[in-house]
Amino acid sequence: MLTDLHIAVFGGDARQLEVIRKLTELDATLTLIGYDQLDHGFTGASKMDIDEVDFSKLDSIILPVSGTGLKGEIDTIFSNRKMILTEEHLKKTKSHCHVYSGISNSYLNEIALNSNRKLTKLFERDDVAIYNSIPTVEGTIMMVIQHTDITIHQSNTVVLGFGRVGMSVARIFQALGARVKVGARKSEHMARITEMGMIPFHLDNLKNEVYETDVCINTIPTQIVNADVISKFPSHTLIVDLASKPGGTDFRYAEKRGIKALLAPGLPGIVAPKTAGKIVANVLSQLLINEFYKREG
Ligand code: NAP
Repeated sequence: MLTDLHIAVFGGDARQLEVIRKLTELDATLTLIGYDQLDHGFTGASKMDIDEVDFSKLDSIILPVSGTGLKGEIDTIFSNRKMILTEEHLKKTKSHCHVYSGISNSYLNEIALNSNRKLTKLFERDDVAIYNSIPTVEGTIMMVIQHTDITIHQSNTVVLGFGRVGMSVARIFQALGARVKVGARKSEHMARITEMGMIPFHLDNLKNEVYETDVCINTIPTQIVNADVISKFPSHTLIVDLASKPGGTDFRYAEKRGIKALLAPGLPGIVAPKTAGKIVANVLSQLLINEFYKREG
C-alpha cells in the first residue's frame, strides 16, 4: 500500500487515468494537475491548478508519458489551462521526491539534475518496452490490414531491428503465416532469428534483401530505409515505420517513387489506451511500493 505517500499526477491522456486508478486503489494521497475538465472524480484525489500545489509535501511526481516540452510545458487532454513545470517547483519538493516520466528531453533532464531530484524514464525500462510491444504489434497488424490488399498470411514481410519491438513484430507476423525475414547486425540476433524459424540477414546487405518485399516494418530509429533501399522495393511494398519520430525511412523519396510509407508513432495509446495505461500503472506502482518500503525500512 502507498498510504501516507503524497503524489502529484500531471496531465496526459487516457493512459494516465489508469495510473490514477491504480494509485487510488493503493491508498496514495493524490493531487491531480491538469484535470479540470475531467468529470470523473477519484476518491481521495484533489484536482488543482499548478500554482495551487504545495510542492513541499510531495513524495513523487508523475508526468505524462510524453514528459514535458522543451520549455517545461505539460500536455493534457483534460484541461485547456497551460502548465509549466520548473526547476523551482522541483526544488521545493521533499529531498527524496522522485520524478517519473515516460520519456525525457534536455529540459526535463536538466531541471531534475539541477534540483537534485531522481528522474525515471519508464519507457527506457525493458519491462515497460516489452509489455508495450504487445499493443504495438496489434496496431501494426491493423495498419497492414488497412493498407494492403493481400493477407499477412504468405506475405513476404521484412522486419528491421530485433530489439524489444522488432522481436515481437517478427514473431507475431510469423505466427500469422507471413514469410518473415529479419534484418539485424549482431551475430547472436542472427542465431536467435534462425532458431525462431525466420530468415536472418545482415543490415549491411539490406538493399539486396528487399526485392520481393510485400511489407517492410522498421523498428530502427535511424535512417535505414534510405533512397537506395527504397529504390529496390517492388512498387506495391508497404512500409510501416514504427521507430520514434522522425522514423527510419526517407519518406520524401518513398512518396516520389509511389511507395506507401507510413510513420506510425504511439500505437499502444491509439489502439489500446486502457492496456497501455495499465502497463505503465502496474510497473509504476511496483516501483513506488519498492521505493516507499526501502525508505520506511
Ligand atoms: P530497442 O529494443 O532498443 O531495439 C532497437 C533495435 O534497433 C535493435 O535491434 C538495435 O540493434 C537496432 N538499431 C539501433 N540503432 C541501429 C543502427 N544505427 N543500425 C542498425 N540497427 C540499429 O528498441 P525498441 O524498444 O524495440 O523500440 C524500437 C523503436 O520503436 C524505438 O524508436 C521506439 O521509440 C519505437 N516504438 C514505437 C512504438 C510505436 O507505437 N510506433 C511503440 C514502442 C516503441 P542492436 O541490438 O544491434 O543495437
